[in-house]
Amino acid sequence: MWRPDIIKQLEAIVGKDSVLTEKEDLATYAYDGTTTWSHRPDVVVLPVTTLQISSILKLANEKRIPVTPRGSGTNISGGSIPICGGIVLCTTKMNRVLEINRANLTATVEPGVVLQDLNNLLAKENLFYPPDPQSFLSCTVGGTVAENSGGPLCIKYGVTKQYVLGMEVVLPDGYIIKIGGSTVKNRTGYDLLHLFTGSEGTLGIVTKITLRLIPKPAAKRTIFAIFDDMTAAGAVVSKILANGIVPAKIEFVDNFVIRRIEEKMQIGLPVDANTMLLIDVDGSLAAVESEAKQILDLLNEGGAKIARLAKDDAESMMYWKARSAGFAAIYSAARTVIAEDVTVPRDRLSDFIKKLDEISKKSGFEIVLIGHAGDGNIHPSVFTDSREKEDLERLDQTLTEIFEAALELGGTLSGEHGIGLEKKRLLAKALDPRAIDIMRNIKGILDPNNIMNPNKIWENS
Ligand SMILES: Cc1cc2nc3c(=O)[nH]c(=O)nc-3n(C[C@H](O)[C@H](O)[C@H](O)COP(=O)(O)OP(=O)(O)OC[C@H]3O[C@@H](n4cnc5c(N)ncnc54)[C@H](O)[C@@H]3O)c2cc1C
Repeated sequence: MWRPDIIKQLEAIVGKDSVLTEKEDLATYAYDGTTTWSHRPDVVVLPVTTLQISSILKLANEKRIPVTPRGSGTNISGGSIPICGGIVLCTTKMNRVLEINRANLTATVEPGVVLQDLNNLLAKENLFYPPDPQSFLSCTVGGTVAENSGGPLCIKYGVTKQYVLGMEVVLPDGYIIKIGGSTVKNRTGYDLLHLFTGSEGTLGIVTKITLRLIPKPAAKRTIFAIFDDMTAAGAVVSKILANGIVPAKIEFVDNFVIRRIEEKMQIGLPVDANTMLLIDVDGSLAAVESEAKQILDLLNEGGAKIARLAKDDAESMMYWKARSAGFAAIYSAARTVIAEDVTVPRDRLSDFIKKLDEISKKSGFEIVLIGHAGDGNIHPSVFTDSREKEDLERLDQTLTEIFEAALELGGTLSGEHGIGLEKKRLLAKALDPRAIDIMRNIKGILDPNNIMNPNKIWENS
């Protein structure tokens, strides 16, 4: 057994049942949503209180043991892989919704609350928490905060950081700090709240979060459109925005993904369609009707083969269920799937789609597309087999070309999945060296012994 003295101390902190050391258990926590990374931790702990987390971090800091925070392990950047071994600290037992405050429109939750569980409670109160990563059935709120996750609704409602008002964090030395609060406005010094949001578990463990809520929109309609040409679909997205309409969602699915989802779900998707756009408009009934009509006109003018409203809620739910199955459909399509996450300015979407087509033809890899078109956030997925060395070298080159194409168009390396292990080799292409230095220095101040999720985000970390 790994370091019995440490195991004993961890058991004293959280109890024997919440310390996992069996080979099979450790293997389970060696993976996340990526298909190319894995590394076994030496031990997994499942605390239930902030004080327990503080004691675990004090111990780890004193003994210089790496600690990798983990929610549900659904991230697609290698963020919760314990690449240096040591402790995986999993928050899934801290899953209480502590308060839903209707008068202040806030919810306070523990980090291990599953997003859909929160959504179900809020729906009963006619309240709405918009950030909607498509892993909502299993991802934790803590994980979404650490990744600053987004989803289809972010075109209109913004990403997680726009909803985090306050948090409690255990710093790497065990100190418990409270930042932000429960006010919508808060201009007190540097914005530490947003430093921790999106910090990928490298600066501390988030143990409590206060989120801003909004009332549920009164009305909603879904528009379904198909195109024979993917770049035309991309151009219409920019046109909708240029016309001053910001729909709640604009999602984009290519023919491969449509066929794959249909194969799995048999719900009658148009398997011959080159591209499917799913668009939601929400708000007051009058606004929804007027926006839906304008969007339908723009889709028809832009060359849609079919553009129509979903006839009822059931049809609308069927489309969104299909869309949220998109990643699972892609991930099961090959032994190794690299589901990328690049974002370009929305008016460059069709240029990016053209460029991806060129890269696919040149590399010989099929590149399939799904994404949050309204955000310019596309997930080009490349299929390969990690056992084939030659394929992997070619893959590396292809991914680099995809990122370079996005950056050349004014885009970014990651819209929502984060850097983790997956993209750290590319960080220097996207950021000024000085910016990386500032980040390293911040990490050094908060975590001088580099125990907190080490070896993530930048090289030699
Ligand atoms: C099918 C599928 C669809 C997805 N769709 C989307 C999408 O639409 N949009 C999107 O943004 N992402 C998406 N993702 C990625 C992923 O689900 C999100 O990043 C999610 O927020 C991760 O939550 P988690 O609980 O699984 O966190 P984990 O994967 O366990 O952890 C993610 C990161 O956060 C850190 N962390 C976890 N909890 C804490 C904590 N309490 N304190 C500090 N650090 C912590 C970890 O160390 C790690 O770096 C998808 C993933 C899958 C598999």
